Amino acid sequence: MTAPVPAHESPPAPPAPSDHTSHALLLDLDGVLLDTRPVMQMAWRKVQELHGVNLPFHDYERHLGREFGDIMQRLGVTDAETVRRTHEAESVAAAHLAQEFTGIIEMLHAFVAADWRLGVVTSKHVDRTAPLLARLGCPFATARTSAGAGRTKPAPDPLLLALVDLGVDPAAAVYVGDMAVDQESAARAGVAYTRTGWGYGQLTAPAPKTTVSPEELLRLLLPAKQLVEGSKV
Ligand SMILES: [Mg+2]
Repeated sequence: MTAPVPAHESPPAPPAPSDHTSHALLLDLDGVLLDTRPVMQMAWRKVQELHGVNLPFHDYERHLGREFGDIMQRLGVTDAETVRRTHEAESVAAAHLAQEFTGIIEMLHAFVAADWRLGVVTSKHVDRTAPLLARLGCPFATARTSAGAGRTKPAPDPLLLALVDLGVDPAAAVYVGDMAVDQESAARAGVAYTRTGWGYGQLTAPAPKTTVSPEELLRLLLPAKQLVEGSKV
């Protein structure tokens, strides 16, 4: 299996300018590819213990999708950089608690077999993202994290930068996320959006298209002909 690209530093050579036929599937990480709630709960518990942050995990969780510093600001946590170091160290230490959602790996390989280009777009720092992506062992051609250029979600920047990496038009891409900030980022980037019903976010207005399983997402996005051809690869 091809190792995932750990960061945006080595994107593939972009296709020729005339290439406007390729499709891209961009995916958020938490609540889309992997169930990372146990990891996040462990890390938040450590933050509570070491820094006296007296806020329940639920308060942190409702801001998921945003960059960590953005969340700390919204929660009124001071000394965010010290807290961040604790949180990142504990997240990396607890990465083994993450579990890919059922059917995700098969779905990713079906998209690859149908010649879609895959990218990850997350507000996590690359140090926390890399060990989680390594668990999937899937051929992501790019991974845009909070360590990259531009603004983080809900700005459109990481989605647009991932599409530059992949050489795909926004109109030929789909972003799969689970939080309202994912939906906003996709809308501002001009990218179609699909929400995972297995993620962590609550339904918000306007209600996005929601898929209940990786298998259903596959059927929604890939014509039956491509599915049959992909299964032969
Ligand atoms: Mg998410």
